[in-house]
Amino acid sequence: MTIQIFNSMGRKKEPLQTLVPGKVGLYVCGVTVYDYSHIGHARVMVVFDTIVRHLKARGLEVTYVRNYTDIDDKIINRANELGITIGELTKKYIKAFQEDMGQLGMDDPDMEPRATDHLAEMQTMIEKLIANDLAYESGGDVYYAVDRFKKYGLLSGKNLAELVSGSRVDINEQKQNPFDFVLWKGAKPDEPQWPSPWGPGRPGWHIECSAMSSKYLGESFDIHGGGRDLIFPHHENEIAQSEGASGHDWVKYWLHNGFVNVVSDEGEREKMSKSLGNFFTIRDLLKAYRGEVLRVFILNNHYRSPLDFSFGLLNVARGGLDRLYSALDGAKKILGSLPSSVVVTPQSEADKPLAADVEKFFTAMDDDFNTPKAVAVLFELAKKLNLVLLKPDSADKKLEVAHHVEVMRGLGAILGLAQFDPLDHFQFAPEVNLAKADVNDTQDVDAGLTVEQIEALINKRSEARKDKNFAESDRIRDELAANGITVLDSKEGTTWRRN
Ligand SMILES: [Zn+2]
Repeated sequence: MTIQIFNSMGRKKEPLQTLVPGKVGLYVCGVTVYDYSHIGHARVMVVFDTIVRHLKARGLEVTYVRNYTDIDDKIINRANELGITIGELTKKYIKAFQEDMGQLGMDDPDMEPRATDHLAEMQTMIEKLIANDLAYESGGDVYYAVDRFKKYGLLSGKNLAELVSGSRVDINEQKQNPFDFVLWKGAKPDEPQWPSPWGPGRPGWHIECSAMSSKYLGESFDIHGGGRDLIFPHHENEIAQSEGASGHDWVKYWLHNGFVNVVSDEGEREKMSKSLGNFFTIRDLLKAYRGEVLRVFILNNHYRSPLDFSFGLLNVARGGLDRLYSALDGAKKILGSLPSSVVVTPQSEADKPLAADVEKFFTAMDDDFNTPKAVAVLFELAKKLNLVLLKPDSADKKLEVAHHVEVMRGLGAILGLAQFDPLDHFQFAPEVNLAKADVNDTQDVDAGLTVEQIEALINKRSEARKDKNFAESDRIRDELAANGITVLDSKEGTTWRRN
């Protein structure tokens, strides 16, 4: 078994060979906590959560570090607008982020360091850079001298001389080169500030990630991830800092996920932005869809491809989950309850009837985390399970059903899919129908019947059936159908689902 991963440094697939055999150190740039997270953030987080799950499924011991940027211009500006401290602001949005991640079925990283807890480490690194003649003090700030770092531009493929000649970067008289970037910013009056050898101030954004990743993963580690938009200048600058300070190679593999484009009603691809009115926070979307729908929507696309976002495509993703959970619902009726998820690997399944499917799943994931192919294996398993469900009842059938469920959910766990009870999926009550809503005014949209209203009608219908009042029970069934609810009667009782 070899895992191939696409390394942005060099732009080709390479076999994953970790620095310490059997172990992986992984750092992902986290969020700047000044607002709610959006679908672009959801993509980065789901992608790397899934990568971590697969590496673990392959028996690797992963240390996953994802930071919070809790000091930054945007944070200071927003806190000032609201008249609160930056601590109050970041606490609110860290909590919101963690709630959103929980809804997306995310495992917590092993460490979630915050920038403001690592000022000492950042200052030590800046001192090293000054000592190594790669940084200079100027007017109360400290800057990195990009043209003194030979490898600058290697990750992004940018040539510094061309950048400078074509640049429209603001000329800052404190900088020697317009692409020099700030390591330490001298404090303006009334700004949050920390003491330093260069006077009171705060760190630049790039140094945060260099200092925190080195602290928890060492001066060299295996994988650094993030969105494509961070390649330049953020990741380029991180390399210049970390390698400039330590004097040796830093990160072995760079992984970057693609952009999210919003597809308009006219079918045009647009960049998501608040001004275009096509900006969706994770919590906006969670009012209309279960987190798992967002998750399967993201994983239906390869992480390096651009991700087209539209409500139509989200509805397709939900339809896919309908198929998985319909099959699991059928299995639940045969088995009485769904067995809890067990670990499934090609080794555990060798010589068993679904070995080829498991092999296919792992082969897809080993090939640069090809999640669309892996999700497709789950759909194939659902189809196979449906065929088993059609067989006449027998003890053998029960065993076969149980085995299909075990494999489906065992593989699903690696993607973070198909782990719920089917009813959680089918009975999800959206607060709004975003597809029909004006995105700026989701208040007036009819979200349909609540679970309480539905269950009250179901009970009324059961009473009517008991009294042999079939006209009334049919009327209630029609009323529910008109509200998008299907009633399902079986010998175990009556259940319902949203269409
Ligand atoms: Zn970073």
